[in-house]
Order: sequence, then structure tokens, then C-alpha cells
Amino acid sequence: MTDYLNLIGGRLVPAADGRTIDSVNPATGEVWARVPAGGAADADAAVRAAREAFPRWSALPALGRAHFLRKVAELFGRHAEELARLETTDNGRILRDTLKKDLPGMAYLWQIAAGQCLDAVRGDTVVLGPESLGMTRREPYGVAVCVIPWNSPISTFSAKAAYALAAGNTVIVKPAEQASASVLRLGELLAEVFPPGVLNIVSGLGEEVGDALVRHGGVDKVSLTGSTETGLAITRAAGIKPLTFELGGKSPNIVFPDADLDKAAEGVTVNAVFTGNAGQVCVAGSRILIHRSIWDEMLERITAIAGQMVLGDPLDLATTMGPIVSAGQFERVTSYLELAGKEGAELVFGGRSGAEVVPALPHGYWVEPTLYTTPDNGLRVCQEEIFGPVAVAIPFDGDDEALAIANDSPYGLAAGVWTRDLARAHRFIRDLQSGTVWVNTFRQMPPGLPFGGVKASGYGHDAVLEYTREKAAVIQFL
Ligand code: NAD
Repeated sequence: MTDYLNLIGGRLVPAADGRTIDSVNPATGEVWARVPAGGAADADAAVRAAREAFPRWSALPALGRAHFLRKVAELFGRHAEELARLETTDNGRILRDTLKKDLPGMAYLWQIAAGQCLDAVRGDTVVLGPESLGMTRREPYGVAVCVIPWNSPISTFSAKAAYALAAGNTVIVKPAEQASASVLRLGELLAEVFPPGVLNIVSGLGEEVGDALVRHGGVDKVSLTGSTETGLAITRAAGIKPLTFELGGKSPNIVFPDADLDKAAEGVTVNAVFTGNAGQVCVAGSRILIHRSIWDEMLERITAIAGQMVLGDPLDLATTMGPIVSAGQFERVTSYLELAGKEGAELVFGGRSGAEVVPALPHGYWVEPTLYTTPDNGLRVCQEEIFGPVAVAIPFDGDDEALAIANDSPYGLAAGVWTRDLARAHRFIRDLQSGTVWVNTFRQMPPGLPFGGVKASGYGHDAVLEYTREKAAVIQFL
């Protein structure tokens, strides 16, 4: 059993009242670690530490801050294997992904953020007249609270903290109660990098320490990656604070007959919804829209690819899909398997859950890759985010119909279009109500491009300018 601690004001500390939360390994169902169950007192201590550190951190020249961020990038290189194994144990995301994709990607992200420290201090000048100049000045907000989910803790931590710090804010990260361990371990390592109070990490329940942080009067900016419901709760609690929301999705993945069908079949399955972390991906392409002329062929191809997925121990590099993160999320996903049948969706493959899926790990939270078909995008399984390895295929006949189905969703996070037709690709990029549109690819989120949503998927995106505000000045020479 490993015990993890919060990072507050440069010190590793338990929750003020000593409470802890058990961390369950979702592949085995066993408690393997304990993390602090922080509350209002811990939130307050973190805010005070962050406020105290803010004047010196924000006064550093941009290149001074970049120096710290580059140290974090180096640290990711040295501790990649340890952090990847830890995160895989904690949330079940397969080691193949955490080790080979996430951790190398993080070293890169912190390097990019280091390079962007200068963007955070760059302003405009406007010549207003012969004796008058306007200028803008970018400033950090102050104390930024970053609330993150459990599906990719280190990646989401980095996507927020790196840019918030680059911009000169001091930061408090609140990891998710289902999977805080990898971020808390990272906190132990980062305590050696940053001056006390510049980066703080406080774990605990969302409705306790999360709520206390976002409503705290000493907090100047809140960024959430999480569900739409939590976005609404934070909107109510935070008062007048600038918010960044990266929320849920129900993304369409649209396949046209002129696409490279080998690539499309691969692209709508393993990298989109039957993923290493069992479809617990905000951008999961969980609505697969297929042109009627290739309907049977695509379903056959998708079935064949999904049939090759290997479910099992996520620490085994041969495993291609891990478990659902927690008992609560398992219940949620399996309730949709029941609902799909009741709503009249037709099962193509999958549908089983629990011990029969991975008998060697009978206490893990297993759900098979599952595909339904329906002509009716109005079903709840087509409208609601399931956040598991469950997709629905929907047929369409023409471009207008595909667009209408794709946009008929409360969400607008991402969309995929598989076509070789340049005009069609551009029309869909223009007309899809979506933060990101991928053409002939899916789930590529390179640093340097904005990533965010529209409608119930949120607004804003984690990039350095999102953590700054602009001040205007007018200078009259005479
Ligand atoms: P969640 O909203 O339940 O929790 C996210 C975080 O918010 C957790 O740290 C939680 O403790 C905290 N929280 C909950 N209630 C709070 C409150 N009242 N005040 C302050 N903080 C609170 O989401 P989850 O179940 O952890 O993650 C899954 C959701 O996240 C899905 O909807 C998924 O689509 C979304 N997500 C979005 C993105 C994106 O970039 N758009 C990425 C990953 C996940």
C-alpha cells in the first residue's frame, strides 16, 4: 500500500484532518494506494501558498520561467517509466499508451510551453496619432485552479499547468478522486523543481475540495477538464472568474465511400472509440456515421478489427484495451448496454461485461468493445456520453443528411470525416459544429493547435494566452 500526499507551499502534507481516499486498481479491483481527501482547510492553505508565491513568480522574466519548465521536460524523460506504470496501475490506461505515447508527449509539451513563455508577455502597439500610442500588455491572472479528470491525469495536468505557469500564474491542481496517484507522485518530483507555492496539488472529492477551491475568493482563474455537469456546478460556484471548460462529447466519425476504407476502418475503431483506455476519451468517436453504400462492408471491417483487441492486464504491453476506471463508471457504462437493448438499438458485437470478459482478472471492471446500429440518432445512446468502449453506427445517404445527423447533438467537441474529396472535406470542416475536425485521421491533438469545444463541450482551450488577460494603455506624448 502506498500513501500519497498533497503538495502545498512546497511541502508534502496529508489532508488537514487526516482523511484519505482509497485508490482502486481497476484491473484487479484491489485498493493499492491512499490519497488525501482534502477539504476547505486544504483548499485555503493551497490558495494562501499560491498567493504568496505569485509576486515573485510573475515578476520573473519570461526566460526565467522557461528555465523551470524545461527542467520539468527533462524530469519527464528521467521518470517516464515509473510515472507510466503508476498511471496505468491507477486508472487502467494501457502501458502501451502511457509509456509509448503519453510520457514522451509530455516532455515535448513542457518544452513547447517553455518556448511560449515569451508569447505570454507579447503585446500590441497601435499608433493612435502623431503624439499618441496605444499598447496592450498581457498579464497573468494570479492564482489559477486547474481541475482535471481521471482518464489521462498526467496529460491533462500538463496541458493546464504548463501553460498556466508559463504565463506567470501560480497554480493549484485538483486531480480526480478516482485517479490522483500519478499526479501526486509527480508533485513529489516537482517539489524539487519549483519554488514553494508556485505549483500546488490538492486531492480530494470534487464536491468538497474542488468546490472549495473554485469558489475561493483568492482564486483568479479556473480551468476544468471534466463533465458538462461539473462545468455547470462550477459556473454556479465560481462567481465572476474567467473559466476555461473542456467538457464531454459525443463525436461523430463520418465515413464516405470514396475514403481509403482500410484507413477509415482502423480510424473509427482502435484510435477512436475502442481505445487503450476503453473508450474513456473525451473525443471518442462514439457515433460512427456510415454511407449506406458501404454499410455492410464497413461493419464487417469494424467487427474484424474490434475482434482482434486484447483485453487484460493493462501493464502487459500485449494488451490493447484496459478496464473501466471505477465501479461507479462501470455501472454507468453497463447501464447504457441495458438501455441500448430497451431502446431498440441492434447489437453487432460485444455487449458483455464483468468477469466473463477477462476471467484471469475477475474483479476488474471489464466491458467488451461493443457496437450497436440504429437509424435513429435521437436514441439516448446516440445523444448521451457513455464514456466507455461503446459505439453506435448510423447509416446516411448524402452529405446534407450526414451533416444534419452529426450536428444533431448537445455536444460539439470533435468530429472525423473520411473522404478523398477536397471540396467535401472543406465543407465539413466549415459546417460541423465542433471544436476540432479531423480529415482522414482521428484523435491527433498536437500542441500548438487549439483544442476545445462548442455547445455543451465547453469553451476556451488550454494554451498560454488563455491564462493571461490583456490590459490596454494609451500614452499621450505631449
Ligand atoms: P467529472 O466532471 O466528474 O470530474 C472532473 C473533475 O472535476 C474531478 O477532479 C472532480 O473531482 C472535479 N469536480 C467534480 N465536481 C466538482 C465541483 N462541484 N466543483 C469542483 N470540482 C468538481 O468528470 P470525470 O468523470 O472525472 O471525467 C469524465 C468527463 O470528463 C467526461 O465527460 C469527459 O468527456 C470529460 N473529459 C473532457 C476532456 C476534454 O478535454 N474535453 C478530456 C477528458 C475528459
